[in-house]
Amino acid sequence: MSTAIDKLRRILVLEREQGCRDRAVIGGLERFLQFWQKEAREQADQMTGEITIDEILGQLDGYADLPIDQRRARIEELVVQLSRVRPIAEQSSEVGAASIAPPQPQPAPKADRPSPAADVQAEPTPTEAKPAAAPKAPTKPRRPRSSAALVDLNAPVTVLKGIGASGERRLAPLGITTVRDLIYHFPRRYDDYAQMSHIDQLQLGQMATIGGLVVRTKTTYTRNKVPVFSVVLRDGTGQIEATWFNQPYLGQQIRQGAALVISGRVDQYLGRLLFRSPEWELARQELLNTGRLVPVYRLTEGVSQRWLRRMIKRTLDELAPRVVDPVPAEILHSAGLISLGQAIEEAHFPDSQDMLQRARQRLAFDEFLLLQLGVLGRRARVNALTGRALEIPQQRLADFAQSLPYTLTNAQQRAIAAITADLARPTPMARLLQGDVGSGKTVVAVAALLVAAYNGLQAALLAPTSILAEQHLHTITRLLAPYPEINVQLLVGSMPEAEKQRVRDDIAAGRVQVVIGTHALLQESVSFRQLGLVIVDEQHRFGVEQRGALLTRSAVSPHLLVMSATPIPRTLALTLYGDLDLSVLDELPPGRQEIVTAVRSELSRENIYSFMRSQVAAGRQGLIICPLVQESDGSDAPAAVAEAKRLQEEIFPHLRIGLLHGQLSPEEKERAMAAFAAGEIDILVSTSVVEVGIDVPNATFILIEGADRFGLAQLHQFRGRVGRGPYRSYCILMAQEASETAMQRLAALEATNDGFALAEKDLELRGPGDFFGVRQSGMPQLRVANLGDAATLEAARSAAQRLFAQDPFLERAEHALLAESVVRFWSSANLS
Ligand code: ADP
Ligand code: MG
Repeated sequence: MSTAIDKLRRILVLEREQGCRDRAVIGGLERFLQFWQKEAREQADQMTGEITIDEILGQLDGYADLPIDQRRARIEELVVQLSRVRPIAEQSSEVGAASIAPPQPQPAPKADRPSPAADVQAEPTPTEAKPAAAPKAPTKPRRPRSSAALVDLNAPVTVLKGIGASGERRLAPLGITTVRDLIYHFPRRYDDYAQMSHIDQLQLGQMATIGGLVVRTKTTYTRNKVPVFSVVLRDGTGQIEATWFNQPYLGQQIRQGAALVISGRVDQYLGRLLFRSPEWELARQELLNTGRLVPVYRLTEGVSQRWLRRMIKRTLDELAPRVVDPVPAEILHSAGLISLGQAIEEAHFPDSQDMLQRARQRLAFDEFLLLQLGVLGRRARVNALTGRALEIPQQRLADFAQSLPYTLTNAQQRAIAAITADLARPTPMARLLQGDVGSGKTVVAVAALLVAAYNGLQAALLAPTSILAEQHLHTITRLLAPYPEINVQLLVGSMPEAEKQRVRDDIAAGRVQVVIGTHALLQESVSFRQLGLVIVDEQHRFGVEQRGALLTRSAVSPHLLVMSATPIPRTLALTLYGDLDLSVLDELPPGRQEIVTAVRSELSRENIYSFMRSQVAAGRQGLIICPLVQESDGSDAPAAVAEAKRLQEEIFPHLRIGLLHGQLSPEEKERAMAAFAAGEIDILVSTSVVEVGIDVPNATFILIEGADRFGLAQLHQFRGRVGRGPYRSYCILMAQEASETAMQRLAALEATNDGFALAEKDLELRGPGDFFGVRQSGMPQLRVANLGDAATLEAARSAAQRLFAQDPFLERAEHALLAESVVRFWSSANLS
């Protein structure tokens, strides 16, 4: 049965997908709610949940007037709350979505807590007619629920015993605000204290765990009056001393006669072995800090390992057995995975290395699964849209190919064939054209433009910066020269207002067939007479949301081609960009020069500078990329500014040095790039902002400082800034004392210019986390999953497809939790 609540939830999810533009229903959300509330009130007595219809209406009140981020926040909250509303009949088997019943009664709520849904609270049992001790909190009356009390994973951490307002404040910098955040705060690593040693076997320098009886304690003071607490510990084989510096309170906690376990490195003093400030634990407790695989967490000011371990352990003891698993049992079974609760527990306090692996595998599986489900859902929505089937002028395309000064590569021909086949269908195209720098994507895009124009439709090409837009204008005007009836215009923010207005008028009147501009083109009030095709260059600057917004903007959706120079192995592309069809230009036009790449150290610095001088003397230009600096405010400017100054004054006094960094205004950045492109700058000193930059055929050298600190993809992108003209080009990678993996990355760059080969290498070398700009692409962050883990990726992909085949929009009751997880997982993508 599709209830009013379900209906609203689906609309809200869609609205969120579309960027919260109030476009999900015709006439807007508020108007829809007027009709909706009638239906909802009729069903009200058959439903139970934590929110009333009036509260729902209240949350969406004035929606149209809210800024986008507030709209999103309200929707996200509501979607979660709505998914917890259930028909009364189901209530007894339902323990609240992602919520968990703790065994003990919880303290009464604090009266000042605003969100009732996020509370822990003693609920009346179903047999009690009235809430006995009605909480004073400003909550609306609620239906009784089946269990005595519920802890919501979305509840603030303060509902946990031992975490008050100050704990909440201290945890916030770790990104921990809810109970869920806390139990998903996984260790950075583990110390293996699982093996206990005998005292008489201890060796200097060894990491060891021992257990014994405290036979003596004492506190002494250093010359500076710092207390040193020490104990002597004895097991059956011998005794040893342990000392702790400046922790006077230990005297209260570790008493003579106690059974103590300590872990740490075996040190020595005057030839005697001892432990200095080891991890310790009284043996009567379950061991958290010693004697096992001990979690080591990312910390922040005021949060200690011991405290965090204790909080997490206590929370898990209560909640883990009750975590409701969103993944259907059948899928877990066939993929051989452990339950979610067990996985979370083992990920924090693993019973063994083996269990730790299984926990990781399960958690990684979840991330891949949610990723896939989101992507498949998006794809299904695109497929449900109406597009225009275009007529394909084969002869015209053949003539166009003939008019080019070169022959199209096979890869280009394949891409054009795939694109024209898409354009001929009544479903809007949603295709990703992937090709390394210089693989010739532009000409493929132009073929698509030709088809659109032939069908009397307008096309828009969007570039990440106006300088790239101008570059495209230049190239495309030239390629389309044989077709004078196709009017190509530029529309970028820096144009004079009158000029922009003229172009906008021409677009609205249909006098412009192709408009080239920046993404601002989408936001500004540009109305097309008949927009049939949108091409987006450099997709990772273009979020998934924007993509969706574009397609759903009008009743008939335009065809969409996204172009990316970020090479990604095919299996991965299918997962990450599964909402797009994929064409790959895996072959460079013939006759390309390889860029000479070399890893160098400080010793060669003077030689490198004189090499640069000789290149400039020969009329060439180049770039110097400044090292990443871990500035606390995240700014890269100071290093670049100082370096540019040093180079200009001390190294290249006679050359023209330019400067580009992230703190410049967009206009200043454009100006620096334009000056470089125009040859007015010999050497451009830049931070990584130049990454997706301009095509300057005269640039022949790039020096990357601190190259070991950049990722492979980024280095490859930097390198792509040179070697774009007829001149032999050079990429010099400076690295000091790099780690072994960093050196392997640099060696890979030296060995090949092939972006796809590098992408494979990157997967191999890298652990979990970011990969090739995935993060910028609007994908959710992976915390556990490793994109190189092909087996788990594949298992999740096939599970997602199976699920999707049964229940594409996850509407069945048994998939409600999963649907909610997908929304939550994807919402993390938009926080960055
Ligand atoms: P990218 O994929 O990086 O956008 P471009 O479209 O800018 O690459 O093409 C890079 C260069 O290669 C351009 O100068 C273009 O004219 C040239 N080019 C494109 N296709 C071919 C081809 N098939 N043969 C030779 N040169 C080509
Ligand atoms: Mg390009």
